Amino acid sequence: MMSEVYGVRIQIGGIVQGVGFRPFVYGLAQRHGISGWVRNTSAGVEIEVDGSPAHLQAFMHALQEETPVLAQIDSFRCDDIPPSGFETFEIQASKPKAGAYQPISPDVSLCLDCRGELFDPTDRRYRYPFINCTNCGPRFTIIRDIPYDRPNTTMAAFEMCDDCRREYDDPLDRRYHAQPVACPECGPQIWLESDGSESSVGEQALQAARDVLRAGKILAVKGLGGFHLACDATNPKAVGTLRRRKLRVDKPFGLMAPDLATIEKEAHIGETEKRTLRSRQRPIVILRRQPGGAVAMAVAPGQSTLGFMLPYTPLHELLLEPAPDFPPVLVMTSGNLSEEPIVTGNLEARRRLEALADGFLMNDREIETRCDDSVIRIFRDGPYPLRRARGYAPRPLKLSWDLGQILATGAELKNAFCLVRGPYAFISHHIGDMENYETLQAFEQGIRHYEHIYNIRPDLVAYDLHPDYLATRYALERTRTESLRAVGVQHHHAHIAACMAEHGLQPGTRVIGLAFDGTGYGLDGTIWGGEVLVGGYASFERVMHLRPFRLPGGDLAVREPWRLGLALLEAAGCEAELDLPALEGIDMERRTVVRRQMAQGVNSPLTSSMGRLFDAVAALIGVRTHVNYEAQAAIELEALVDPDVQDGYPMLLCGEEIDYSPMVQALCEDTENGVEVGVMAARFHEAIVNLISECCRQLRTDQDLHDVVLSGGVWQNMILLERSVARLEAEGFRVFWHREVPANDGGLALGQALIAAAQVGALGK
Ligand code: ZN
Ligand code: ZN
Ligand code: FE
Repeated sequence: MMSEVYGVRIQIGGIVQGVGFRPFVYGLAQRHGISGWVRNTSAGVEIEVDGSPAHLQAFMHALQEETPVLAQIDSFRCDDIPPSGFETFEIQASKPKAGAYQPISPDVSLCLDCRGELFDPTDRRYRYPFINCTNCGPRFTIIRDIPYDRPNTTMAAFEMCDDCRREYDDPLDRRYHAQPVACPECGPQIWLESDGSESSVGEQALQAARDVLRAGKILAVKGLGGFHLACDATNPKAVGTLRRRKLRVDKPFGLMAPDLATIEKEAHIGETEKRTLRSRQRPIVILRRQPGGAVAMAVAPGQSTLGFMLPYTPLHELLLEPAPDFPPVLVMTSGNLSEEPIVTGNLEARRRLEALADGFLMNDREIETRCDDSVIRIFRDGPYPLRRARGYAPRPLKLSWDLGQILATGAELKNAFCLVRGPYAFISHHIGDMENYETLQAFEQGIRHYEHIYNIRPDLVAYDLHPDYLATRYALERTRTESLRAVGVQHHHAHIAACMAEHGLQPGTRVIGLAFDGTGYGLDGTIWGGEVLVGGYASFERVMHLRPFRLPGGDLAVREPWRLGLALLEAAGCEAELDLPALEGIDMERRTVVRRQMAQGVNSPLTSSMGRLFDAVAALIGVRTHVNYEAQAAIELEALVDPDVQDGYPMLLCGEEIDYSPMVQALCEDTENGVEVGVMAARFHEAIVNLISECCRQLRTDQDLHDVVLSGGVWQNMILLERSVARLEAEGFRVFWHREVPANDGGLALGQALIAAAQVGALGK
């Protein structure tokens, strides 16, 4: 007896295109004896099927349970329709829908199947550096337009050969509709250039490139989201040369090793670290350095950590293939001079990296969107992002609310912008420091690209209150020319709101926000950064803050923390201590000039910044008087902490003001008594943890607040983070820290968007 046949229409939203979703549906339909069709729309995937109730139920269950690895189902809608009498199951051509939008997959590291084929001598893609399939390969960085189809990617230039076409057209093949599919016959090729000439191609080029690295020279490698500069990380001379040419004095370099076993010889790795290193996002993971490793000290001077990643493209796998005479670990740092954006084009590489690299491992697949390597720390068995880029962007954060269409432009340094549409927050890849024309261009192009591919037309713009930020100027300019609504957002309020949004804290929630940061424009026009805020998305109150001290010389004080040291002594009423041993290297005359500058208030803005307090203390206890990159003094201070010291310097809470005078006093006595730097560093950290605990307990008593949110760049200090979270939890607080976006300004735009939405009433009360 024939069982009765029913019809169903299914609409699925989320990341369902370019991830093998239709062939997956096709396979399921075959397995469950279902007929009908599946197709991509610009809003997701649409399915119509006929089948018996039992078969349909099994089919729909499997759709949601066996989803392909890269897919992410955010909405699943299913309607009964009359059966259509389908006889087969087929994949139909895409059907665009006006105004709809589709999340796009980030770039994905080489999958295990492709890796197997890469090293299989019988496979037709044996040792082919651009092997990929539906489950892996480039996505975001090659997409020019939507829908995600080959002609709309930088792979359009390569016409598929018959073999590749056959795989591309076969729904049961792993490469069915894999847009970047290619082989040695038809796809991109590599070649090596040195001394301005093209010397070899293919496997020969690869081996010659390895010889460049073996010889301790610098190799520029075109990767997924830009060029890397690579060299032997175990060769101090090579690392030194790279530093000199790149004008990068001390800032640590990222590393790539062929496998976990190699990394384990250099650093401590826990299970979560392993999982993260091996994840398909393949970020740089910051690990605790192990003594006795082979990596040169010059890779990360003054730091107790190393940043490692595993190969994430087939080219990396081949380039790092272990051999007895080949370096076990490579420096893989972004291909740029100093703080410029990473180079992406071949011509540009020849021009801008000429003086930096001895050889160029080039290829002819173009990079549409520049994307840096992501950087992650592991905290409490989960990710704690420092830089969100390749592998993560542009995967959106699903919010708990529909916010309409918003653009938030972010901050000046470590910029990332955020575009919101409905419940999705598209947080951009790391754009960089907006200090040069190239980065500003990348920012503007990035916003246009995201607006285009996600079909977003913001009617609300959120921006930082700092009038000189280029991101702020951009926001105001657009607001004016397009007559959009605009909301200026206080920097530290945005930090706290970003972390709240990640955790889905409800509108109306009131939290204690510990916004500990380097810098941010305050409501009173001074520079804030050591702020205890109380509030939620819609509003906040600044309830406590560090006692302001001066930044003698403005930005110069950030580069020369000894100036901050003097300012802190002055603010703490410890001028008598000016002959501190740590300041011996600074001659008396310069010290006098700075003191006069502060007394007269000349170019000496006030700040309540916690980041600058760390810098100042680092200077006073002798960590360093000058820095070569932002927060270097604070980072080295953290690395010096003696873990056995439990006591902290005294701090005073006087109403709204946090007074560090007793701490500075005690610290000066310690330096005079020759107490070890590690002990002083520990006592300072402990002082801040004690202070945090006191502030929060007082706010719990006074205002019945129990939730504490940690955000701002200072929270990249892991000792401070670990100890503060442990203390606050022990005292019964619920503590929230970042998991999705960085605590630094890279996460700011998300908070700006939420606050703007709340202030115009788009977030409820
Ligand atoms: Zn693959
Ligand atoms: Zn081919
Ligand atoms: Fe900030």
